[in-house]
Amino acid sequence: MRSSPRFDRGHTDDLMSFLAASPSPYHAVANAAARLEKAGFRQVSETDAWDGAAGGKFVLRGGALIAWFVPEGAAAHTPFRIIGAHTDSPSLRVKPQPDIGAYGWRQVAVEIYGGPLLNTWLDRDLGLAGRISLRDGTHRLVAVDRAVLRVPQLAVHLDRSVNTDGLKLDRQRHMQPIWGLGEPDEGDLIRFVAEESGVGAAEITGWDLMPYPVEPPGYLGRDRELVAGPRMDNLLSVHAATAALAAVANPTPDDTPAPDGTSAADEPLPYIPVVAAFDHEESGSQSDTGADGPLLGTVLERSVLSRGGTFEDRARALAGSICLSSDTGHAVHPNYGERHDPTHHPRANGGPILKVNVNMRYATDGGGRAVFAAACEKADVPWQTFVSNNAMPCGTTIGPITAARHGITTVDVGVAILSMHSARELCGADDPYLLANVLAAFLEG
Ligand code: ZN
Repeated sequence: MRSSPRFDRGHTDDLMSFLAASPSPYHAVANAAARLEKAGFRQVSETDAWDGAAGGKFVLRGGALIAWFVPEGAAAHTPFRIIGAHTDSPSLRVKPQPDIGAYGWRQVAVEIYGGPLLNTWLDRDLGLAGRISLRDGTHRLVAVDRAVLRVPQLAVHLDRSVNTDGLKLDRQRHMQPIWGLGEPDEGDLIRFVAEESGVGAAEITGWDLMPYPVEPPGYLGRDRELVAGPRMDNLLSVHAATAALAAVANPTPDDTPAPDGTSAADEPLPYIPVVAAFDHEESGSQSDTGADGPLLGTVLERSVLSRGGTFEDRARALAGSICLSSDTGHAVHPNYGERHDPTHHPRANGGPILKVNVNMRYATDGGGRAVFAAACEKADVPWQTFVSNNAMPCGTTIGPITAARHGITTVDVGVAILSMHSARELCGADDPYLLANVLAAFLEG
């Protein structure tokens, strides 16, 4: 038996660095790619011919990344063990003509991306990040990592019933951030972004920009047993999956060598481990970088064919493959216990969660439960189960999409958090590394 790599609180420290350095999906995949390159993976281009060489490889496309590790001597029909996750988070996104304003305030026009808790974006100091596309066809990452924008909440004196009747926000009228004083000036925001990124404004011919909270993630609680931070849904899973894949591709011979001198680290992996980090989950996954597009299927197919495989090998590989789709779920909320199922109460630091919904909002079934339970047992990690209260609609994620699109057995798992889709979410400080340990055990087979 291989020994599982072990992650600890150092993993959670690293998660916070990853969150802070990943204000957009484009940054998240660039940071994941950098970690994989450090672990010996190399980027391959989708437009080049692929060889079937062993080793770690990854494809980057927009805000998506697919990475895989081909063990030495892997047969063409070797099945895949896949971890799925998503790189995007609900947020505000800059509109095509962003320069607006009123009453002497300069503002930036934004669209609402996904389903954020809108109130959590109020009175928060926001930076600006994303990707600019240049005249020469290249893209460049941008992050203005200081307080530039803010969506100011109306004073209580002008909204007397806000604390009794609730806050009502109009998505168009009330969510436009201010970013200074003066009259709106067409081209102003992009000129600012050009200055900040050291390119001429005329060179910028496209952009995907988003305000983000500049307050860094941090430990919280009496004994620092919690972590508060942005975008944990779902960069927490992207980070854990990347760490798990890098560890599995580079096993340390930390077990006792057998009498013949071999160790567990010498055993070939029985599966091809894969990480699939998609964009656009929060808006339905239907894009060229989303889970409902052909990206993952194409990469898996090309991996089989480049190793000399046939259509038959591809079918055999996919039929034997399993996907753990990792995303955040709901920890039981102390102030709203009645919103949760009466007997299923995922807790912070109680270990990763298995997510179940018989109507296939989650792809898990009994067989999937057994796969997850085996990985947790192997990693010696406790785990919990999430199922919705029947009176509450259940969320969904990329798991059912992956199962339906590729015909791959899929299990929905993740970490239980509070304040999902808030601009600043909350989770247990142990759960990220417990998840990483389980993901590594799963990838090892
Ligand atoms: Zn999510």
